[in-house]
Order: sequence, then structure tokens, then C-alpha cells
Amino acid sequence: KPRLILVLGDQLSEGLSALRAGDPARDVVVMAEVMAEGTHVPHHPQKIAMFLAAMRKFAEALARAGWRVLYSRLDDAQNSQSIPGELIRRAAETGAGAVIATQPGDWRLVRALEGVPLDLSVLPDDRFLCSQEAFAAWAEGRRELRMEYFYREMRRKTGLMMEGDQPAGGRWNFDAENRKPAGRDLLRPSPLRFEPDGEVEAVLALVEARFPAHFGRLKPFGWAVTRDQALRQLEHFAAHVLPRFGAEQDAMLEGEPWLSHSTLSAALNLGLLAPMEICLRVEAEWKAGRVPIEAAEGFIRQVIGWREYVRGIWALAGPGYMDLNALGAARKLPPVYWGAPTRMACMAAAVGQTRDLAYAHHIQRLMVTGNFALLAGLDPAEVQAWYLAVYVDALEWVEAPNVVGMALHADGGRLASKPYAASGAYIDRMSDHCRGCGYDVKVKRGAGACPFNLLYWDFLNRHRERFARNPRMGQMYRVWDRMDEGHRAAVLADAAAWLSRLDRGEAV
Ligand code: FAD
Ligand code: SF4
Repeated sequence: KPRLILVLGDQLSEGLSALRAGDPARDVVVMAEVMAEGTHVPHHPQKIAMFLAAMRKFAEALARAGWRVLYSRLDDAQNSQSIPGELIRRAAETGAGAVIATQPGDWRLVRALEGVPLDLSVLPDDRFLCSQEAFAAWAEGRRELRMEYFYREMRRKTGLMMEGDQPAGGRWNFDAENRKPAGRDLLRPSPLRFEPDGEVEAVLALVEARFPAHFGRLKPFGWAVTRDQALRQLEHFAAHVLPRFGAEQDAMLEGEPWLSHSTLSAALNLGLLAPMEICLRVEAEWKAGRVPIEAAEGFIRQVIGWREYVRGIWALAGPGYMDLNALGAARKLPPVYWGAPTRMACMAAAVGQTRDLAYAHHIQRLMVTGNFALLAGLDPAEVQAWYLAVYVDALEWVEAPNVVGMALHADGGRLASKPYAASGAYIDRMSDHCRGCGYDVKVKRGAGACPFNLLYWDFLNRHRERFARNPRMGQMYRVWDRMDEGHRAAVLADAAAWLSRLDRGEAV
């Protein structure tokens, strides 16, 4: 009897554990485009198109490699429109009684598979460099989980940028040399984008017809949808963009949506590229003396450090993590996240490029839209659903820890020891948005005051009990307490008035 080998949309890797466990002479690969996955949050049209196009291309590659692939297209009449439904249908069709799967990166799907009435084996997803068991062993008995220590273990384990058992250059972390504001530069290289071929065009037409109401522009579409394209994108990044990666990592500029970021997260999360091959390519540029150590180390830290760390947290915490709300935040997500006009130039830029490109870089996600959600006390469940919907690289295992833990501190500090809360001064230092803004970043209260300034103090004041004793935040409470009482009262009153305008749906 054949067995069904399930390949999900983010499992497009030739070396996937489920494929390795199967036998092309006997088993059948099942892949399915289903409405349930396209609509459980209103995914950005570019994201849906990228997944569908990449799945179709991968199915062809598997067929060329000798696999029998049963592929359900979204508009196939018999499509049951859910993953469990398609497994049951294909089992009946082929006589298969068993399913081999690789663990999904979404607890909703993990549970859905468990409910399928077939003999199911779920294998670990060993495309990650750190297994769930290894992460759990590292976390065991630690009072605090800190990314920096995890990262050092990962450097030792992978041998990346190591000299014996010491880090290359004598330090683990070169961020002191990174994170500068960026200047205008007409010669800054852009990421490689790809013209859709006929097959991708067909997917774009399908998405246009089936998901007309989803937030986001479908075109121009330029994401990599094959391994070959993803490798070219990596090559282009390593050769042209990487040298500035570190320096510009935290910068924001009007009209520069990509700056010197790799834009590789989508291809990486689909499975078209492997984390180690990306890092080896980046390390090779540094070894050849073509990029500064801080650029290579900073990049490798994001991939073998942060990316593996958030995945470890997601796996360790289990499904309950997505419901956490340690700060009791309950405000509804305001229309500005869906592109409503706003005087806030930084929010308009981050949300606008999200609508147009399904992409914003880390600091926009963390320090603009994330910081706003934290300070304004937006409901974590609504914020999560937004991030999961709008970014081309968003999958629960990586989106949830970044939103719940990093941006919103809704996990009570499991992922980060203090909230990433900041006033307008941070955004002003790292960007050129404030110059063209309808608010004034230098104004702390009263007419025209930057909302981030008002909301920052309102947030600290609101959560005094929780944060005043945090050693990394005590200083800010001392600053607040030294301010004139009348000034403090006016700031809080202005913040309340501003938030009630937000709640009434007025343009802010
Ligand atoms: P680069 O800046 O070029 O970084 C290189 C790579 O490092 C990325 O491709 C990514 O794979 C990895 N990386 C960097 N930071 C992180 C991080 N914090 N967590 C995990 N991997 C990281 N990343 C996602 O892949 N999917 C998400 O849904 C997602 N949601 C986020 C939500 C919030 C609120 C925040 C603050 C961050 C989120 N991130 C997410 C992390 C990060 O912002 C993106 O990985 C990055 O912006 C992708 O663009 P890039 O490939 O150009 O990254
Ligand atoms: Fe953003 Fe405030 Fe600067 Fe305007 S003034 S761009 S709202 S930080």
C-alpha cells in the first residue's frame, strides 16, 4: 500500500524529513492549496500568491525527481478546501492508510493533523539548526532565557565565524559598530526581484479573483518562488547588499523600503533556502575580506541566533503562548493599521509599504507598528492576526514570539527582559520620518505633540507596578518622577484625549 507524504506550503525543501522517510517507488506526495489556509487570517495577496506559485513549482520539481504528486489546486471542483479533508480524500483515492508528515509550524495545523483518522507519523522539522529537544535542554533550569547566550552556543555548534573555541575578532557581538542612521544614497543596491512567468501570472489572476477584499496590493509581484531564484537572490545579497547590512540594520528612510536588508526571510521560511547555506555564504564574504566583520556577524546572529531562538520559544511554550496578554491590553486594532490616513509619518510609511510590498524590515515592525501597539495597549490577539496576515514571511512559529514576546511584552518577559518601548526620540534618531510629519517630535505635550511621546509616558505610568523595579527601566521612572507634577498631569491628559480620538475612529 502507498503512504501519503504530506508537504505543506512552507515545507518546500528537497531534504524535508517527510520526503526522506518516503519511497518514490511506493509512496504518493500530497500537496494542497486550500481556502482554510488562505483565509484563517486575511493574508496579503502577495503572500498567498507567493505560497501558491512556490508550491506549484515545487510540485513540478518533485515530479521531475520521480515522485508521484497528487496536487490539489484551489479551484479544483473536488477540493475539500482543508488539509485534513484533502488527506482523507487522497487516502480514499489511493488506498493509503498511513500519512508521513513533517511537524507544521502552526499549532492550529498540528492539532488538525492529530484529528485525521489515518495512521499518522509526524517527524521533527530538522531544517532548523536547533532541535526542539536541544532547545528545551538549553532552557532547562535557566531562570531567564536570553538570546545572546543561546546564540553563543549556536556559534560553537555551527562553527560559524569561530577561531577554535573563540569568536572571530575576539567578541561575540559587534553591534556597537552597527545600527547607524542611514543617509540618502542613490547608489544603494536594491534586492533582486523576479518578473512573473506565465505560471506565476496565472496564480496572480487566481488570487485577484478569489481574495479581492484582502488588504494589500498584489502587483508588482517580485518574490522568489523557486530554489533557483532564491539562490540568485542570496548571491545578489551577499555580493552587493551585505557590506552595508550591519550599519543600516536599524535605520529607516522615507521611500527606501528595503534599505540594506536581505529580504530572504520569505524564501527561508518557505524552505527554498536553508539557514546554514545562507550563513556559510555570508561567512565566505567576510573570510574573503569583502565585508566588515560587524556586517557578517550581525547577519549570522539574526539567522542562527534570533530565528532559531524564537522557534525554540514557540515550540517550548506550546499553543497557549498565542493567548498570553500579561499587560492586559484590550484596545481594538485601529484603522490606521489597515491604511487609514494618518498624520504620523512613521506609521504611514511602515503601513504603506506593508500594503504595497507585504514587507517591512525589523525596526519598522518592532519600533514603529509594534511600539505603537505596545504603548497604545492594543489587544495582542488582534495585533498577532494583523502581523500574521500582512507579511510575506509570516508563519506562526516566527510571527507569534516576535509579536507576543518581543513587540508587545505580552509573555511577561519570557523572550525579552524589558519591553521595547520608546518615545518619538528613538524614531527621530533612526529615521528621517519626523521631518515630514504632521506632529512635532520635539513637542512633549499640547498641540502637535508626537503621539509616541505622549503614549510612552502613559505606558510607563500605567505599568509602574510591573516595571519600576526592573533594573533596566528604573532610570526612566526616575526621569518621570523628577518632572513637574503639572507637566506629568498634562501629558497623561493629552495621552488620554489622543487615545479616545483613536477609539472614536477619528483620523489621527
Ligand atoms: P534581514 O534584516 O535581512 O535579516 C536576516 C534574516 O534574519 C531574516 O531573513 C530572518 O530570517 C532572520 N531574522 C532577523 N530577525 C529575526 C527575528 N526577530 N526573528 C526571526 N528571524 C529573524 N520574521 C519572519 O520571518 N516572519 C514573521 O512573521 C516575522 N514577524 C515579525 C513581527 C515583529 C513584530 C517583529 C519585531 C519581527 C518579526 N520578524 C518576522 C522578524 C524580522 O522582522 C524579519 O525576519 C525580517 O524583517 C525579514 O526581513 P529580511 O529577510 O530582509 O531580514
Ligand atoms: Fe512618528 Fe512622532 Fe516622528 Fe511623527 S513626530 S514621524 S509620529 S515619531
